[in-house]
Amino acid sequence: SVPLSFFGGIGGASRLGILVKGSNYLEALGSTETVVFDKTGTLTDGTFSVTELIGAPGVSETELIDIAAAAETFSTHPIAQSVRAYRDSLTTDARPDSDNDANLAQPDSDSTTTGARPGSSSTTTAERVRDVREISGQGVEAVVDGRNVLVGNGKLMAAHDIAFTATDVPGTVLYVAADGTYLGAIVIADTVKPDAARAIADLRAAGVKKTVMLTGDRTPVARAVAAELGIDEVHAELLPQDKVAEVEALLAQTERDTNGKGKLAFVGDGINDAPVLTRADIGIAMGAMGSDAAIEAADIVLMNDDPDDIARAIHLARRTMGIVW
Ligand code: ADP
Ligand code: MG
Repeated sequence: SVPLSFFGGIGGASRLGILVKGSNYLEALGSTETVVFDKTGTLTDGTFSVTELIGAPGVSETELIDIAAAAETFSTHPIAQSVRAYRDSLTTDARPDSDNDANLAQPDSDSTTTGARPGSSSTTTAERVRDVREISGQGVEAVVDGRNVLVGNGKLMAAHDIAFTATDVPGTVLYVAADGTYLGAIVIADTVKPDAARAIADLRAAGVKKTVMLTGDRTPVARAVAAELGIDEVHAELLPQDKVAEVEALLAQTERDTNGKGKLAFVGDGINDAPVLTRADIGIAMGAMGSDAAIEAADIVLMNDDPDDIARAIHLARRTMGIVW
């Protein structure tokens, strides 16, 4: 017969697609009081789609999306992927100025750009782009067709003294500028994962006292997602280092509430989440779509990217401890 322990412990968890890197983490999960979530890719599915293009006067929508997609050529951020996908969906010939060779920039061997695939259509775009710099929590800077292009949020524009037109359209907004001139805004929308609301409800049923969402996205977007999911507390417009500070503040509160017994779990997916995953009592990473850095920094990896697996893991942890002790 199968021993009871087959269904419990690390082995039982891994059979559910929940990889636990040590029995101490499973034990800690059993006394989780606070669960802190990153938004994009963790509670939302991270597949954004472009919903609106707002060109500045004299800038066409085609020019706006083309230059933004070019600047995002090498970014693995879900936002970048959606901008490229939208550009590609518009036309098979995505280069309106392809005969204007005078504007073409040569690839720079010192730049951080990588991944050009000879023979693929992205090669032509790749040749237009050099000196790419990704600024976490803000966006990208790149030289496109010899112009200094910025694509990102209001923080990125403010940092470069770009006079941009803030839009209050619901959704995540990317602003685009070239050589110091504002070109317009790209509005993108993300959708919450189908199981995210149930995941929050199940955590509450499992005795978790507080759920929190941290995000680099704008406050109205963050509030709407938190309200839809029933999350207790939300902090938006955060840079990666701000997320660490928020988790430290929450850790202090959690430990004080419970005489050192309550644990704080952070759940994230992105490369920027690694410092927070390390700082939390229990770092939980999404494994299927998550970045390698997040998976490495985490104590527990959810292979199915299902946020409801956290509540399942807490129940399993408690059952396991019940069997052992
Ligand atoms: P979250 O905290 O929700 O996981 P991130 O920290 O990854 O989000 O990003 C925060 C914000 O930074 C995004 O909402 C976007 O405004 C901006 N941003 C990040 N990466 C990019 C990118 N590659 N292109 C444009 N904007 C970006
Ligand atoms: Mg993220």
